[in-house]
Amino acid sequence: MLRIFYPDMYVPSILDINPDELRKHGINTVLLDLDNTIVPRDRDSFSPEIKSWLKGMLERGFKLCIVSNNSTARVNKLARPLNIPCVVRAIKPMPGAFRRALGLLNTTAAETAVVGDQIFTDIWGGNRLGMFTVLVVPMPGKEFWGTKLVNRRLEKLLLARISRLVSHKDKQYYVRRKKG
Ligand SMILES: [Mg+2]
Repeated sequence: MLRIFYPDMYVPSILDINPDELRKHGINTVLLDLDNTIVPRDRDSFSPEIKSWLKGMLERGFKLCIVSNNSTARVNKLARPLNIPCVVRAIKPMPGAFRRALGLLNTTAAETAVVGDQIFTDIWGGNRLGMFTVLVVPMPGKEFWGTKLVNRRLEKLLLARISRLVSHKDKQYYVRRKKG
């Protein structure tokens, strides 16, 4: 019953995601959460490391899209210089925004990974559509008060379970297959 909340992979940071591993899973598209996944919520520029990871992914032919519950202005300001499309005010885990992103990139759920720092928005939303899901440890920084109050508390309970399921393979951090 809880499996819908389990990611396929759990990594300390987005920088730990190996693009070749994603390819092995048939992934050519990555839908990225913004806040505390690729930029701290209280910053308005990407770190050089994140910038080069994003550019590296694009150069390797991955399609990227930022899917964020945050506002248009902030997301566009960050994504436009890198030429990454965005779907904003996403209301994750509702499937609408994810579907819009798939349409925008002309791709399917089966070849798409969702990467985010929250179980109850990013991971739940991605799993509902059958996408490959990657949970990252949140970047340090301010959080939306509602996130802190509700989601993070419940997440703590789930993270304890997920952490027990993680196995290391080729320096990636796989959660044991959640299906079957
Ligand atoms: Mg986030």
